[in-house]
Amino acid sequence: MRAGTAATLITGLHTLSVRTERAPQFVDITERVQELVEEMGVKQGIVTVFTRHTTAAIRINENEPLLLSDMEEFLKRLAPKDLYYRHNDFGIRTCNMTEDECPNAHAHCQHLILGASETIPVMEGKLALGRWQRIFLVELDRPREREVCVQIIGF
Ligand code: ZN
Repeated sequence: MRAGTAATLITGLHTLSVRTERAPQFVDITERVQELVEEMGVKQGIVTVFTRHTTAAIRINENEPLLLSDMEEFLKRLAPKDLYYRHNDFGIRTCNMTEDECPNAHAHCQHLILGASETIPVMEGKLALGRWQRIFLVELDRPREREVCVQIIGF
């Protein structure tokens, strides 16, 4: 932006629906986020990609199929599904129970080390990702419909 030029701030909040098929699963959503940046016409700014879930994460990593398998196995080793978890013990648990409650404490524990969001700079109308960086929704629970918020702010 040149000195003396009045800049108009562009902001937008979008929700992407992502259908997952298994867990753990890395779903590459990079193109969908880039399309939103282009639709908004933002040339320079920031994008926050945020999952509205406690058992689905947002992470940046490399989309190489064997690596994705490695990372899925890593998450399974970190918090195996078949351990005992108090959150899964519906005989003692009384809090936050829903009619379709599933035992998913392993997914919450895996989410703990991943996280709910990533922030990516926008330069010259493109996500300023490195050569191997891709944005993933990481499903940790079971096949589900997931909501990802994409907030774009820039000029
Ligand atoms: Zn739960």
